[in-house]
Amino acid sequence: MSPSRPPGLSIEHAAGSDQGAFDILLYYLYFDIEDPELYADQHRSLCETLGLRGRILIGKEGINGTVSGPREATDAYQNALREDPRSATIEFKVDPSADHVFPKLSIKVREEIVTLGLGAKDFSPNETSGTRLSPTEWHSAMQDENAVLIDGRNNYESDLGRFRGALCPDIDNFRDFPQWVEENREQLEGKKLLTYCTGGIRCEKLSGFLKNEGFDDVYQLEGGIVTYGKDEEVKGDGFDGLCYVFDERVGVEVNHTASHRLITECRACGKEHSEYSNCAWKSCNARIFICDTCAAESGTYCDDECRRNDEAGIVLTKEEQVARRAQAAHSK
Ligand SMILES: [Zn+2]
Ligand SMILES: [Zn+2]
Repeated sequence: MSPSRPPGLSIEHAAGSDQGAFDILLYYLYFDIEDPELYADQHRSLCETLGLRGRILIGKEGINGTVSGPREATDAYQNALREDPRSATIEFKVDPSADHVFPKLSIKVREEIVTLGLGAKDFSPNETSGTRLSPTEWHSAMQDENAVLIDGRNNYESDLGRFRGALCPDIDNFRDFPQWVEENREQLEGKKLLTYCTGGIRCEKLSGFLKNEGFDDVYQLEGGIVTYGKDEEVKGDGFDGLCYVFDERVGVEVNHTASHRLITECRACGKEHSEYSNCAWKSCNARIFICDTCAAESGTYCDDECRRNDEAGIVLTKEEQVARRAQAAHSK
């Protein structure tokens, strides 16, 4: 999904909740859609009829979505997509939930369903992509001494949780990957490159891009972190922290083994804390980890500077805001 700034919502129903009569679906499929606008219109009526909420991107190259709804509705939705010969092979990751996890339904038509921004050099992952590894294969590939794990997500996602030892590019947007690869070519050269992301869609492109860039030994975690965490055999082993998701849950548990640990802490007192908040100074609004005790004491701010600026009513320009957030991310 295209990342947007989420509110600092709780992760209370993150762990293995099965109480609800709702399901959350995460899915994508790269396939040719001749008329994306028409497809989107038809898709919108389907989702509205079923009462689904969530975010769906549709483009000439396929569909990328996550929705929530009552179980009968999400089941009917899955059947509808599987019965359409164009999307018969689509796979769904399903999480139970007590309720909707999206405020509304949003369906958008985009040039790309994940944006690498390659322009004329764009390609189909159905033609070029890294070798797919099952969770078990991934688990053993991680032990390879020549392996380099590449987190195919943005900085605020890998901050919350990541595979132990992975390279986590400090980028805000997937489209910044080509530049990151260019700048880090040396440490990738001659290595076995293992790419992973939330549900697998970004790695289809990222691993294909790496192959096009001349790297030969490129792999991707099939089904992403979400599938890895649900796998009966590996049970998420080797993943630290929580997996960032683009719905109200924000973070979900992945590692169900004894090796599970949280990796995030309150920026003020250092106590373990895994719930994102946004800095209360609107011109900053950075995603930060701050515990309830510290927030009650000195407000939900990155630091004293943000609090003073907020109290003084200082408002930054758009450009200054971007710089402020980058600075906040690095000063934690
Ligand atoms: Zn604290
Ligand atoms: Zn701030």
